[in-house]
Amino acid sequence: MVSVTVWNEFLEEQTNDEVASVYPDGIHEVLAAGLRERGHEVRTATLEEPDHGLTPEVLEETDVLVWWEHRAHEDVDDEVVDRVCQQIYDGMGFVPLHSAHFSKPFKRLMGTPCSLNYRESRERERVWTVDPSHPITAGLNDSFVIPETEMYGEPFAVPEPEQLVFVSWFEGGEVFRSGCCYTRGTGRIFYFRPGHETYPVYHEDVVLDVLDNAVDWAAPRTERSVSTENSSVEPRE
Ligand code: ZN
Repeated sequence: MVSVTVWNEFLEEQTNDEVASVYPDGIHEVLAAGLRERGHEVRTATLEEPDHGLTPEVLEETDVLVWWEHRAHEDVDDEVVDRVCQQIYDGMGFVPLHSAHFSKPFKRLMGTPCSLNYRESRERERVWTVDPSHPITAGLNDSFVIPETEMYGEPFAVPEPEQLVFVSWFEGGEVFRSGCCYTRGTGRIFYFRPGHETYPVYHEDVVLDVLDNAVDWAAPRTERSVSTENSSVEPRE
């Protein structure tokens, strides 16, 4: 069983009627329920909690941190970002979703602008599996459709993924690298594009199935190591 923390800024669900109609209890609750149904142990954390709900104790108990963020990027405290990134370097998995491409942790881990093109016009998306041997694609068909979504288009200003798992096609003709795997330190990162606060993308079973696989893939394989700076070692004989 993987111990998952789902983090959400949890702002627009409380202030925007259109968002609240799709995610009345918050996007984090829909993601958490979907992952619990699939056998994971899930807690949630939000921006307004002390330490944004991400205390050292919570992060130490977290195997994989799932991150939803849309507009609060600059409101996330740098000290929490330091703590999150350090845990990832030490082996915690990280699954940033959709507009979390502009989150502070993802941008720091990538070291690039992470910019992209977008258009919000309720378009159809077909997500293609381009690496059927990858564990994140287990049990999936060669492609799946999200009926209504926001378009994200290339160029996506990230480093070349270590494994590219999904590529999306949109009705308007654009394509996008929708499932990108990285390692930073000993932590595994999976950026997953689908999602948007005004479309019911996270109510789609296939999207939750991908996240189920992603959480299994990103979980640490061994006891979490704790990195130390410049640790001194004895010479070997
Ligand atoms: Zn969006």
